[in-house]
Amino acid sequence: MQIYMPTKIYSENNCVMNHRRELAALGSKAMIVTGKHSSRVNGSLEDVEKALQEENIPFVLFDRIEENPTIETVMEAGELGKKEQVDFVVGIGGGSPMDAAKAIALIIANPTEDERILYEAKEFPALPVAEVPTTAGTGSEVTPYAILTIHARKTKQSISHKIYPRLALIDSQYLKTAGLDTLIDTAVDALAHLLESYLNTNADSYNRMYSEKGLSLFAEIREELMECRRQGEKPVQTLSNQAFDILMQLAATAGMAITHTGTSLPHGLSYAITYEMQVPHGKAVGIFLPGFLGAYENKEEVQSVLERMGFASVEDFTQYLDELLGKVEIPEGLWIEDVKSIMANKAKLKNYPFEMDKETLYAFRR
Ligand code: NAP
Ligand code: FE
Repeated sequence: MQIYMPTKIYSENNCVMNHRRELAALGSKAMIVTGKHSSRVNGSLEDVEKALQEENIPFVLFDRIEENPTIETVMEAGELGKKEQVDFVVGIGGGSPMDAAKAIALIIANPTEDERILYEAKEFPALPVAEVPTTAGTGSEVTPYAILTIHARKTKQSISHKIYPRLALIDSQYLKTAGLDTLIDTAVDALAHLLESYLNTNADSYNRMYSEKGLSLFAEIREELMECRRQGEKPVQTLSNQAFDILMQLAATAGMAITHTGTSLPHGLSYAITYEMQVPHGKAVGIFLPGFLGAYENKEEVQSVLERMGFASVEDFTQYLDELLGKVEIPEGLWIEDVKSIMANKAKLKNYPFEMDKETLYAFRR
């Protein structure tokens, strides 16, 4: 058993300003990496800019990361970073900019290499990375993973390198501008991380403590989340301040869980669905969770995660998730291809501790 969690994590109100010295200590010139809009609206970009200015650290901004970031965009940001001679990267946003920040840090640190190093099975250095999450889902602020869209293969895949952020600055204030679907989809992503990590070939009693804690946090807010869906208002009008704090904590804890185990079948199946149907990541993963729990052979372990979440059975859990997420109609042809590609990919199956056959996997679509 082992635990390796090298990211220094702070989670509190006013977190970025409170820890600006440690942020500035990462280098002498920063590249800030964000999505197109949200970091301006929720105040996170302004806080990071102010923090760096107060510490006299110059920076350049790359604010064009799209959802499910592509290799092309990462390379474009990398070129800018090389030209500007930045020596650390700050990712702000959901998983997309935070993942992109890690890949960009790798590209800048290896100026003579091209995009092939992203997926090369060899060690390369990367610039230091700090992450400021504004969704409560991916946990990318603490994980070493960076998932990019590969157009040539019509799917998404994590780069080969493990790039642990040096610093995660978590402030639940930023989450308050999130829309209903974004908040719910990303919370379900975090839930999937907890479940796929617990029910995993690489799970042991040591790293399961992350999932156990996270699932208990989920139990605390699951009714509030459903109420939020039923009201149909912006989450900030329905959720308590405490719920926003719990969501951020849940996502980071879930990130620490998958850092030790990786994810499993629901994530593997989701990537082609996101690529082909533009279903947001958390929703694309969440629709496979009932099938995953239903098929999992160790029923005692399934019962244990259900109890932690406060559900009596897989059926109860399924009903809850169906109402929370809504349905996704996956076309037959796409589904057949998706199942075929997972069944042919040993790396995708290895985190599932039992034999998996095509028929069982096929029934994951509901
Ligand atoms: P995202 O793609 O980063 O963002 C989704 C949308 O939410 C964007 O339109 C974004 O706007 C907006 N948004 C972000 N924060 C907001 C806020 N506080 N208020 C209002 N809107 C906000 O979504 P995500 O689900 O967090 O990340 C998904 C990506 O992470 C996928 O590529 C997935 O594969 C990856 N992922 C990574 C890991 C990992 O361990 N590294 C784990 C799971 C998933 P802007 O574009 O304007 O910012
Ligand atoms: Fe995920």
